[in-house]
Amino acid sequence: MNDRYSRQTLFQPIGEKGQEKISSKHVLIIGAGALGTGAAENLVRAGVGKLTIIDRDYVEWSNLQRQQLYTEKDAETRLPKAVAARQRLEQVNSEVIIDAKVIDATPLELEPLLDGVDVIIDATDNFDIRMIINDLSQKHQIPWVYGACVGSYGISYTILPGDTPCLHCLMEQVPLGGLTCDTAGIISPAVQMVTAHQTAEAMKLLVEDWGAVRKKLVSFDLWTNQHSAIGVSSVKKDDCPSCGREASYPFLSYDQQMKTAVLCGRDSVQIRPASKQEWNLTVLAETLAGQDGRVEKNPYLLSFTTGDKRMVFFKDGRALIHGTQDVAEAKTLYHRYTG
Ligand SMILES: [Zn+2]
Repeated sequence: MNDRYSRQTLFQPIGEKGQEKISSKHVLIIGAGALGTGAAENLVRAGVGKLTIIDRDYVEWSNLQRQQLYTEKDAETRLPKAVAARQRLEQVNSEVIIDAKVIDATPLELEPLLDGVDVIIDATDNFDIRMIINDLSQKHQIPWVYGACVGSYGISYTILPGDTPCLHCLMEQVPLGGLTCDTAGIISPAVQMVTAHQTAEAMKLLVEDWGAVRKKLVSFDLWTNQHSAIGVSSVKKDDCPSCGREASYPFLSYDQQMKTAVLCGRDSVQIRPASKQEWNLTVLAETLAGQDGRVEKNPYLLSFTTGDKRMVFFKDGRALIHGTQDVAEAKTLYHRYTG
């Protein structure tokens, strides 16, 4: 034994018993951007037993200002975020089992990952995915911690199935900032404040200190010095489609409509094939080598730059078309180069 966790076990609400619980639990983090890398680092340092982290994207230079696990090398080599995060986290704490997946957060991809998961942390930038997480949490009775930030503003809320109102209950009655695509930018302290709220809540859930779990929706603005905590228990609805008596989990059947998506705050469109197909990146590289453009490849993805457009093909079948927000234009490009 070493004293890696001594300061945490000295903290009375955790103690040796709490530490044992933390080390036997499994957390799923959805998204490996700013919030996801912060939460992942905190929980891996805290000694969680297993961490699953998923992300569909790769590291870019504009991420380095706030996405704390990534380095310049990761951006240079366009490493998928999940892979770069796992590499770094394994160096931080080799005792933690880390499962990293380069996938899209769809119901089909997420549901098989939930087996044995004790807490889900929302680290997405996307309201559609949050509603999917919300429905999965209710269906499988797994607590989740919502978090969002934009500019200097942040918000967080803990959802306990069967107890607190869910995100679906909240969204019609409570102003939820930070939910829309925004180009207002972001400062890293706002991220870290949300991450602090989310990981503190996760730790309470992992040690099963239910009485300490925050029941209020907390929000703050670090630049204008505002802070609020709103009680929301009265907004729980008996007929909520996600957490009510006859819940139908509507966002879990939404999957098939989401083939193509304009990405939040980025000049990019994601295309996902109608049926599940994987790219053979070596074959694709040979095909594209004969075209008018530049091909770059790593073991996880292939990038093809032509004119002011760049297309990135992931092994799991997806493609990102950078340099446009026009879905029709993106599809035309995709078909021109992939046949
Ligand atoms: Zn609800």
